[in-house]
Amino acid sequence: MTETPHVWAVGDVTETHHLVTGLPAYIALATVANKQGRIAGMNLSGASIAFAGVLGTATTRVGTTEVARTGLTLAEATAAGMNALETRIQADTKLGYFADVSPMTVKLVAEIPTGRILGGQIVGGSSSGKQIDTIATAVTAHMTVTQVVHLDLAYAPAFSDVWDPVQIAARTLISKLQWPHSSSYAMTGRHLNRARDPYDTYLKSTKLEREKKIVEKIPKIPVTPMALNLWYEGPAFVVADKPRGMAVHPEATDGIDTLVNGLLQSNRWLADMETSHSPGVIHWLMPMDRGLVLVAKSDEVADTLRQLYRDQAITFSYRVRMPREATPIL
Ligand SMILES: Cc1cc2nc3c(=O)[nH]c(=O)nc-3n(C[C@H](O)[C@H](O)[C@H](O)COP(=O)(O)OP(=O)(O)OC[C@H]3O[C@@H](n4cnc5c(N)ncnc54)[C@H](O)[C@@H]3O)c2cc1C
Repeated sequence: MTETPHVWAVGDVTETHHLVTGLPAYIALATVANKQGRIAGMNLSGASIAFAGVLGTATTRVGTTEVARTGLTLAEATAAGMNALETRIQADTKLGYFADVSPMTVKLVAEIPTGRILGGQIVGGSSSGKQIDTIATAVTAHMTVTQVVHLDLAYAPAFSDVWDPVQIAARTLISKLQWPHSSSYAMTGRHLNRARDPYDTYLKSTKLEREKKIVEKIPKIPVTPMALNLWYEGPAFVVADKPRGMAVHPEATDGIDTLVNGLLQSNRWLADMETSHSPGVIHWLMPMDRGLVLVAKSDEVADTLRQLYRDQAITFSYRVRMPREATPIL
């Protein structure tokens, strides 16, 4: 109701409040106008319902490219005085063997240190824009990045990869929240200087551009269905028990039956992590050795682990079992 009794206002002529910041927000959208119109109608007939507020969830298509946004961008979160960080990931709109597959980019913003999702943006091919609704729902429900990763979302090859793109972005944010000293960690806030956007840094680097092209040419490493003994699986890394008789990496990109081929069942991002057929795993285990292998779940975590190893902050240990009757080679 307006200041004038019995006169109601809804839609584009009204200001409402933002669901994340709580601040006044003017967002002119049909979705907002329709909800407000319905609420005004119900209140006129005796109900007492309040309009919840807006996130500015919107999508549109420009040619064949869809764009969408909801909640806060990193700049908006910073301007609202929040500590936040963002990630930007690339995924496909469906599995790669479909003729009409196209790339999509998801940007996800979360609060530091709670991991609460604050907003996101999507740019990509057909059917990517409406996926913003997952992020809008997460923001409205005050979900954290971890809760989003655990969402039971639908998958079929014609609609997405096994990992939903929004969940891939949430997973990356978990790593960034857990590894704040990683070189590519970008954050803003009261206590920290603004760091470089890791994705922009990535694109600007000609060396990495070249490597990216090589990755695109390398065929995807095949998945070998197998039961793996995973000792630990967290958001940042997996600890796998490599059995005796199994190689860690395939010899070539079309190799099968190695630990990496098995890990790719549920760790598809491994295939995109490096330019070789030995993604994400640094090890000295021979096929006949049994051992625990620590597998990073993102380039950031892999970089951090390498640095920890270089700094001797983590070490590898080996236990060798000798048969009693073994005779030393002189
Ligand atoms: C090109 C375009 C594309 C858009 N696409 C989207 C989209 O994809 N998704 C989305 O959510 N939103 C979209 N919007 C925004 C959406 O159309 C508006 O937010 C929504 O229509 C607002 O509804 P409303 O009822 O407040 O105002 P309106 O829909 O503008 O309705 C106001 C009505 O009042 C009438 N009127 C004005 N003055 C008087 C008067 N003095 N006396 C009597 N009648 C009067 C007008 O003729 C009009 O019919 C788009 C807007 C534009 C312009």
